[in-house]
Amino acid sequence: MIEKLSSIGNFVGKTPLVHLEHPTIDLYAKLEFHNLMGSVKVRPAYYILKSAIESGRITQDTTIIESSSGNFGIALATLCKRLGIKFIPVIDPNINPSYENLLRALSYRVEKVEVRDKTGGFLLTRVDRVNELLREIPNSFWTNQYGNIDNFNAHFKGLGTELAESFDELDYAFIGVSSGGTISGVSRRLKEQFPNVRIVAVDSVGSVIFGTPPKKRYIPGIGSSMVPDILREAVIDDVVHVEETDTVKGCYQLFEDHCIFGGGSTGTSYFAIQEYFKDKVFEKRPKVVFLCPDGGTPYADTVYNPVWVKELNDKSTVQSLS
Ligand code: PMP
Repeated sequence: MIEKLSSIGNFVGKTPLVHLEHPTIDLYAKLEFHNLMGSVKVRPAYYILKSAIESGRITQDTTIIESSSGNFGIALATLCKRLGIKFIPVIDPNINPSYENLLRALSYRVEKVEVRDKTGGFLLTRVDRVNELLREIPNSFWTNQYGNIDNFNAHFKGLGTELAESFDELDYAFIGVSSGGTISGVSRRLKEQFPNVRIVAVDSVGSVIFGTPPKKRYIPGIGSSMVPDILREAVIDDVVHVEETDTVKGCYQLFEDHCIFGGGSTGTSYFAIQEYFKDKVFEKRPKVVFLCPDGGTPYADTVYNPVWVKELNDKSTVQSLS
């Protein structure tokens, strides 16, 4: 298993960092969609599996279980397929249709929950189902992206180190949050290298991660209906919340300005950056980096579908009127 895993390692990380023209800041984008299966989440998937295999916690007949309707599930499914071990993702109706098809093609079995939890999301229901499966299936292993310290380690050693080594100085890093793995690992590694860097967490309105009230959310990847344990490790200076309608604007704006075809969290960070620096004046242009955790193609039915966007805008007008 270890040899097969090492061969996959060549496709994890070392993603491009590109400089973008901007009127007031020195802006860089880290293109995480260049990773295997198109997202940042292959980094923790790879690292968590590798460390559990090396320590003997995962063997050839282990069944891997994870709550993920998105990139982490796709990454785990791909790696488990390559390793020849069983994988069961627990998904929910917010999943984009192409991801569901892909998971069904790559996984041993797919579990889909249908009931919203008390916060209006599906996460808590998904986690309940994971716990049931762990009780039902012998030799099962929950990779647990929300609580596994190797989610932190993957980003501390991988993405965090790549960023730390790419800059001679850095003033701001904008990082979208869901499980909290990326921001915890990257923030700690960047603060080690650049003690004055400001870490800006980017979240969706309606996510409860930073203590704001829950609201129905439709764009996967960013935000959460619970506060993940792993976030305890993060060092965060500012939090910016973005409405989903503005996430869409950010995605289109980024494509128009820089030809980067990003997923939801990418557009969310790009929108957050425009707002954050709008009225700020600096003597010296600050160096700012943001992440592009996945690309736009998986969002062809949602963010990049004009009919879906119109429905989202209509829903948000109704909400703000009521
Ligand atoms: N952006 C995208 C597209 C993601 O899939 C995720 C993970 N769900 C994130 C951002 C947030 O990453 P993390 O889980 O490490 O907080």
